[in-house]
Amino acid sequence: DAAINRIAAGEVVERPASAVKELVENAIDAGATRIDVSHADGGKTLIRVADNGCGIAPDDLPLALSRHATSKIDGSDLLDIHTFGFRGEALPSLGAVGRLSITSRASGFEAATIRVSGGEMGPVKPAALSEGTVVELRDLFFATPARLKFMRTDRAEAQAIGDVIKRLAMAEPHVGFTLRDVSGGGEGRVTFRADAQTGDLFDALHGRLGQILGREFTENALAIDATREGLRLTGYAALPTYSRGAAVAQFLFVNGRPVKDKLLTGALRAAYFDFLSRDRHPAAALFITCDPQLVDVNVHPAKSEVRFRDPGLARGLIVSGLRHALAEAGH
Ligand code: ADP
Ligand code: MG
Repeated sequence: DAAINRIAAGEVVERPASAVKELVENAIDAGATRIDVSHADGGKTLIRVADNGCGIAPDDLPLALSRHATSKIDGSDLLDIHTFGFRGEALPSLGAVGRLSITSRASGFEAATIRVSGGEMGPVKPAALSEGTVVELRDLFFATPARLKFMRTDRAEAQAIGDVIKRLAMAEPHVGFTLRDVSGGGEGRVTFRADAQTGDLFDALHGRLGQILGREFTENALAIDATREGLRLTGYAALPTYSRGAAVAQFLFVNGRPVKDKLLTGALRAAYFDFLSRDRHPAAALFITCDPQLVDVNVHPAKSEVRFRDPGLARGLIVSGLRHALAEAGH
């Protein structure tokens, strides 16, 4: 019910950027190749995510807003996860703490729309939309004023949204992304654009990293491809001579999910230990892929932490994989 959803929402949705993350992950799970994100006032008054994915049939709209309803898992094996979503928690949580509307068109169906505001669900109504799904979240936390106080400036929240989009854009180089700031109405201002990349994953990632980190990075980065006991490490790591000054550019992914994990960033630092002074950080975008059984991504609802069954193996893979690549490049 509404109260439980509001409590659960606090876990899933800490700030506008966490709402954006959930909505964009849903678009990716829906097979979208174009995802357009707009926000106003740092996402506090409006977040809109439009995709060209598979859509939701009219009868399934109320279900998508129900707690623990997910179309992505059969419930038998929580560890075997190939999509971003699996809890069926995001949409009901967002509908509990803001004014949410979903408009969608699944192939073979007419477009339809549904609203939920402060946990109160309205009826499914006919709508106009040519394809995919548009989710709008207005007035985040209007139903939980205590949370409003924890939000930072519009600028800081907009920056956090940009960071989320960039990480997901690295994870999905074949998907095109735009981010618009529509504060004040109208078409707004495009603050980030990354056209869909083609080619194999290495080529597509190379192109995408150029879009996000700049050609300075890609021209000074080594392709990484190493394997150890069922764990594979791929991606790009900058030469020790490349510097972004004090700016940290470390992007880590486990089975396609952006993660922030001390074990992995510690391993990255260890790999570069001989090269870097205190105030310089290694720059890299690295992907670990493995059998889902070897890693638990189910640690926290926000899902940015991971727990490897064998942490030493993950650390060793990063340290040896990077040192080997650096040595081959003459460092
Ligand atoms: P989860 O992603 O864990 O399944 P959510 O609450 O995020 O839970 O979404 C609930 C369900 O709504 C999803 O399982 C999916 O079936 C549907 N859904 C949500 N967003 C989209 C979208 N953009 N396109 C198609 N279906 C969607
Ligand atoms: Mg989801």
